[in-house]
Amino acid sequence: MAEKAWSFARAFRNVFGGGSETITDETWDDIETALITADFGPEIADSILEEVRGSVERHRVSEVKELKRILREVLEERLAAFDPTLKLIDRPAVILVVGVNGVGKTTTIGKLSNYLTRFDKKIIVGAADTFRAAAVEQLATWAERAGVAIVKPQQQGQDPASVAFQTVQRAIDEELDIAIIDTAGRLQTKGGLMDELGKIRRVIEKLAPVSEVLLVLDATTGQNGLAQAQAFIEHAGVTGLVLTKLDGSAKGGFVLAVQEHTKLPIKLVGQGEGIGDLTGFTPHVFAAQLVP
Ligand code: GDP
Ligand code: GDP
Ligand code: MG
Repeated sequence: MAEKAWSFARAFRNVFGGGSETITDETWDDIETALITADFGPEIADSILEEVRGSVERHRVSEVKELKRILREVLEERLAAFDPTLKLIDRPAVILVVGVNGVGKTTTIGKLSNYLTRFDKKIIVGAADTFRAAAVEQLATWAERAGVAIVKPQQQGQDPASVAFQTVQRAIDEELDIAIIDTAGRLQTKGGLMDELGKIRRVIEKLAPVSEVLLVLDATTGQNGLAQAQAFIEHAGVTGLVLTKLDGSAKGGFVLAVQEHTKLPIKLVGQGEGIGDLTGFTPHVFAAQLVP
């Protein structure tokens, strides 16, 4: 993933690509602008600037090149303050995938299934977004590509909780490792949706604990998207975040802002529509991409 020219790297590439080799007032202005452009948000931008300035002064740094290294380290350290590992020890491990419509839940499940099968994990996915037939078919297509089992509703609009239940039941009966449940994201029925997710969880827990509740966020919507997802954070017992569409996002700072605001770790990153376009979250790699 290092070869791609990330859109979110543009903000800092403009600061450090040419221009003065020694640090001037203009350098600091440019960094501040870049932090804001990248959607770190004003508060986090300020505190990063302060930390970098402190370090630059303490070490009597005068070269822009050194400043860049310090900025990268400050970002990496802050990104690394959360544990990005997926907790999939239970058998079966159940993963609930939640988030508003269109953020990339179904696509992420397809990619994640494919990724996990490479570690010899036996996977089943459950199409608990039962409202639209197209949503079920979309998950079925991904399941086929990834070569994993699927439980679909017997009829359109079937209770999502019963699909989730049957999925986990099959995982137990067939001794599969991981059950991943796709869910609906219709926000117009926010109260209803949260009740539906609550019921899905209660019904699953009759059979097995829920190991992870992954909230999927579209990185191109940045902090607006986070506001939309607030209900999930408050009501759905989210254990980790998935950031999708980083390939098309200029908002790299969102990656840090979202962790610091929600206190939830980013566990997976989506960077394209292909089956291989999903990775774990590695602060070191990400900081290097952000400040190239
Ligand atoms: P859902 O409604 O949350 O299930 O979202 P979908 O999985 O149906 O995805 C919505 C759209 O976003 C689809 O067109 C996907 O191809 C696209 N998408 C999902 N993840 C990514 C990603 O990481 N990068 C890009 N560029 N597109 C993505
Ligand atoms: P209700 O729909 O409000 O009556 O909620 P319930 O908790 O009774 O069931 C919700 C759905 O989950 C039902 O459609 C059932 O198919 C499924 N379900 C819940 N608990 C069980 C269970 O213990 N066994 C089975 N087979 N299905 C269950
Ligand atoms: Mg979907």
